[in-house]
Amino acid sequence: MLRREGSDVMEKSRIGLSRPHMSGKEQQYINDAFETNWIAPLGPNVDAFEKEIAKKVGTKDAVAVSSGTAAIHLALSLLNITKGDTVFCSTFTFVASANPIVYQGADPVFIDSEPDSWNMSPQALKRALQESVLEGNLPKAVIVVNLYGQSSKMDELLQLCNHYDVPIIEDAAESLGTTYKGKASGTFGKFGIYSFNGNKIITTSGGGMLVSNDEKAMQRARFLASQARDPAPHYEHSVTGYNYRLSNILAGVGRTQLQVLDERVSARRRIYDIYYNRLANLSVIEFMPELEGTKMNRWLTTFILNEEEAGITVTELLAELYSENIEARPVWKPLHMQPLFKGARYYSHGLNDHVAERLFATGICLPSGSGLTSEEQLRVIRCIRDAFFKVDRNKYYLILGKHGV
Ligand SMILES: *Cc1c(COP(=O)(O)O)cnc(C)c1O
Repeated sequence: MLRREGSDVMEKSRIGLSRPHMSGKEQQYINDAFETNWIAPLGPNVDAFEKEIAKKVGTKDAVAVSSGTAAIHLALSLLNITKGDTVFCSTFTFVASANPIVYQGADPVFIDSEPDSWNMSPQALKRALQESVLEGNLPKAVIVVNLYGQSSKMDELLQLCNHYDVPIIEDAAESLGTTYKGKASGTFGKFGIYSFNGNKIITTSGGGMLVSNDEKAMQRARFLASQARDPAPHYEHSVTGYNYRLSNILAGVGRTQLQVLDERVSARRRIYDIYYNRLANLSVIEFMPELEGTKMNRWLTTFILNEEEAGITVTELLAELYSENIEARPVWKPLHMQPLFKGARYYSHGLNDHVAERLFATGICLPSGSGLTSEEQLRVIRCIRDAFFKVDRNKYYLILGKHGV
């Protein structure tokens, strides 16, 4: 009896969406920084972390900063984006992708997703660019977001942007470790950004990275990110800078995390495979596809639910998961639907086809942290299957039957 109670408690232990996953070696780097008293901003870990990231993704340079958001903000500053300018941005993303546009006083225009990648729709971008030319208001940049570890259709998007000579900033906060046609995600635009926030594939507890092949721009990024101090013996300033550099301690954590990036990608892909193998036979579930020619990091396993056929809504399914102490989430709410961006322009995929809105209506993210144990994952899978089963046993067999068991 006692034992049973104990195991019930165990069974209800919390399963997080994407928990930080330490390799065990981070402490050593932190200790080293303490022992050499290299606590203050910058230092050898920052320099090394930048070099290691640049080498890993194949760019000429990288600048370590305090967050992914700061990296996007710096990229916009480097492109001299200012009040009254227009910046295009994927609508299907986390708010941090677009907030820096507002910091600069520029106007965001949101671009819909397309079904193959769930990321920016080339045909929507094309319409938006064509119209902006006619209006004489070309965007100063396009922020392309690679969601849930999936690369966008970079060839198509680059072709369009190159045609109009508009630079791309790739928000690869969620796609570090992903490759598109053999090349690292985040390295296709003029600038790329990564995030090391606590929930990302590798973490420094908080941090980010700006990458580019434009070495002059990256030197300028270092200048702007450390209060824009002009070379002079006293404190001399001629432009507004930021305090955006990463600390030497956190860079040490980042270096150790980077060493296990490939393992983390494999672990997340394995987690996806298990979900897929156990759930894809439910015809009411449609997982985020993997874009052809890419190897994505599967940062979060996500699917859309056919609510009508399943007889259960996303809200109800999420409630079932919450009641089992499992953290699952709806997918990002499109930014053009956010009160914050009320009135902003938005271009849908087709004239009457709103892909991101459709994904938001029935999309779910499942616990996908690389530290997730197989027991925990089975608990999630069992909970989802039980949720369908509860609704209608016959229906459950029916939806199973469609794809065969
Ligand atoms: C996490 C995230 C960011 C912001 O990164 P921070 O390091 O948290 O500032 C930006 N864009 C996307 C898509 C993200 O998921």
